[in-house]
Amino acid sequence: MRKNIVAGNWKMNKNVIEAQQLMFQLLEYKKNNATNCDVWIAPPSLYLMMARDLYENNEIGVFAQDMSGQESGAYTGELSAAMLESIEATGTLVGHSERRQYHGETDEACNKKVKMALDLGLIPIYCNGETLDQRKSGQHLDVVKNQTEEALFTLSADEIKKVVIAYEPVWAIGTGETASPEQAQEIHAHIRSLIAAKYGQEVADEISILYGGSVKPDNAKEIFSQPDIDGGLIGGAALKMDDFAKIIEGFN
Ligand code: 13P
Repeated sequence: MRKNIVAGNWKMNKNVIEAQQLMFQLLEYKKNNATNCDVWIAPPSLYLMMARDLYENNEIGVFAQDMSGQESGAYTGELSAAMLESIEATGTLVGHSERRQYHGETDEACNKKVKMALDLGLIPIYCNGETLDQRKSGQHLDVVKNQTEEALFTLSADEIKKVVIAYEPVWAIGTGETASPEQAQEIHAHIRSLIAAKYGQEVADEISILYGGSVKPDNAKEIFSQPDIDGGLIGGAALKMDDFAKIIEGFN
């Protein structure tokens, strides 16, 4: 059966001392608490090695926030799949809405990155989700359908089983406005049914689909209790150990 996962996307936050402190706190927490979900973090790339060294027994999964769609060479500022593989990273986020918004990331580029990550044994967390305008005009189901199909449906059944999907409605990210558990469930079920139609129910049932967008200690449990929601991709509330722990405990 599919995994429950709580993943923290730290975005562009924390200096090295603060990052190290939170990584240590997380390790202590993991050692002292049995969790009913996998715990992953995506710190800024500068701190990936530090996380990898600290979590030597893979207590906590270590993810990049993005990765290049090129193999290597003259791509200043980029990070390759092979580099992530070489530090034994667990995987990478792909297609976060902030990458789409500020860096012109397309579904086509995401498709390439997802494939490259899988080829090297990295887990891609593929992010999708509609904007406020798209939701208001009733396009949300179609938008998410296109994003899912274009980025993922060239994969084989064996490949797509290894992908984690994060549905993150853009209007709920960092705004304090959360999709209601019913709104999120509707889209998660929709994504799973698209996968079932293409790859079969058995494959669809193996894929973890996370919700992201203003998940907080006080709403995590209800969100995670929805049948097609297998965890969360957490931004702001992943930056404080107490909040992140309470969200992890949403699975207890
Ligand atoms: P917030 O939890 O801060 O809304 O961010 C969600 C997100 O974008 C995680 O990737």
